[in-house]
Amino acid sequence: MKYDVIIVGAGPAGTMAAINTAKSGLSTLLIDKEPKDKVGDKVCGNAVSLQHLKEIGLNPPSETTYGTIDSIEIISPDLKNKYRFSAENAGIEIDRLKFGQYLLKLALDNGANFIESVAITSPIIENNMVVGVSGVNLKDSSKVEFKGSVVVDASGAAGVLRKKLHDYVDDTLDDDETMVAFREIRTTRNQDKIFKIFINQQFSPGGYFWYVPMGENLANIGIGVRKNSIDPKFGYREFLKFLPNLKDSKVVHSGSGIVPVRRPMAPAVWNGILFIGDSGFTVDPITGGGIGSSLEAGKIAAESIVKAHERGSFLQDSLWDFSLRYNKKIGHKYASLDVMRIALQARTNEEINFIMRSGIVSQDDLLKVTSGEELKLNFIDAFVRAIAGMRHFSLLLLLLRLVKLSNEAKTLYYNFPTFSEFKAWKEKDLRLHKAAHSQLA
Ligand SMILES: Cc1cc2nc3c(=O)[nH]c(=O)nc-3n(C[C@H](O)[C@H](O)[C@H](O)COP(=O)(O)OP(=O)(O)OC[C@H]3O[C@@H](n4cnc5c(N)ncnc54)[C@H](O)[C@@H]3O)c2cc1C
Repeated sequence: MKYDVIIVGAGPAGTMAAINTAKSGLSTLLIDKEPKDKVGDKVCGNAVSLQHLKEIGLNPPSETTYGTIDSIEIISPDLKNKYRFSAENAGIEIDRLKFGQYLLKLALDNGANFIESVAITSPIIENNMVVGVSGVNLKDSSKVEFKGSVVVDASGAAGVLRKKLHDYVDDTLDDDETMVAFREIRTTRNQDKIFKIFINQQFSPGGYFWYVPMGENLANIGIGVRKNSIDPKFGYREFLKFLPNLKDSKVVHSGSGIVPVRRPMAPAVWNGILFIGDSGFTVDPITGGGIGSSLEAGKIAAESIVKAHERGSFLQDSLWDFSLRYNKKIGHKYASLDVMRIALQARTNEEINFIMRSGIVSQDDLLKVTSGEELKLNFIDAFVRAIAGMRHFSLLLLLLRLVKLSNEAKTLYYNFPTFSEFKAWKEKDLRLHKAAHSQLA
């Protein structure tokens, strides 16, 4: 049987795409390497902003969550200063397995077909176009093939199809764009609903350490470090010393994972295929949060597939709508945050302590950047900051370069080009990325 749509990976990205293509009447096959009752069970920090859920109109039942997160604190390496962002019910801490099962059920209820325990290994390419996928049935090791009009790679950080198509698509993932993460779920008593982020370039180089309350009696605690820097478990143990109340807590679960943190894949489509979620680099490059954006990308992808189906073509130019719409909605913010990531990863503990202590970058500045607003320094502001920054004048200059480059990145991705204008756009993108590394790192 030939399906209209084949989706590889039943994470947030894949299930959300399946819910929406199936709802639109397209015959949809969703495939995962895990057995059905394990779908969703991923090592994760589990925090999702309610904003993303609102955008797609998803209202998960309360039994799929541990409760709300009311604020986020970012704590300086010397533990003396913090930025705090408060908003009642800013986010929720989900139970990944229950949330994943809820999404899978929605996909099935809308008419999607699901095949469990099949590991897809390759795209099937005919006449320069993806026309299906092949893999292995993990129950009996038999080889399997599925044919479809269009394929979606939603296989997460594994990016199984993307990696096989690197001659045609933007597949690079450098070490600084790869977070190696370790996390534990521990018993503890939580007094508040604060998501705490600790920055420290010695113990979490290029990343951070987090503590997220999971209801009243559990916490999700973890660390992400730049690939090939330190062993994340070493950094994790060092950070635990900052949280003495965890001394007698019990470890309920532990595990590791990879988070790709880079600017969006451009374009995230080729002939007969789209790349969404971690596979299509839709993660926030600063926080490493990718659940909400994967859900949004899944929905946008489904809408673009439906349009392409109506046009009767799944060639790259017909699927282009996905990259245009994703970047207009989310990608431009993450392209700008990626420039910030490059600058932040290269700062020392001393510089970060100074930035947070002096107010050279204020809490408001940070909020504006992370919520996607353009960062502007007015004359008075710049003057006051210059005085505050006398001791670290070079840091002030770096900040000005950062503002310029991150705003440029935002504009570039917001104005994602048409298919025919892409070549010139890509040259600008590569120049900007190179400039961010040479001027900020
Ligand atoms: C330690 C850690 C902490 C994180 N914390 C947070 C957080 O707090 N908040 C947040 O928003 N994000 C967080 N993230 C990122 C988040 O987990 C991902 O961005 C999100 O899960 C991406 O969704 P996805 O659907 O693209 O991929 P996934 O959720 O990874 O799903 C991919 C699916 O594809 C399947 N698959 C993989 N390979 C194959 C194959 N060959 N054949 C068939 N199926 C396959 C997998 O079994 C899986 O079901 C964290 C990540 C890690 C590693």
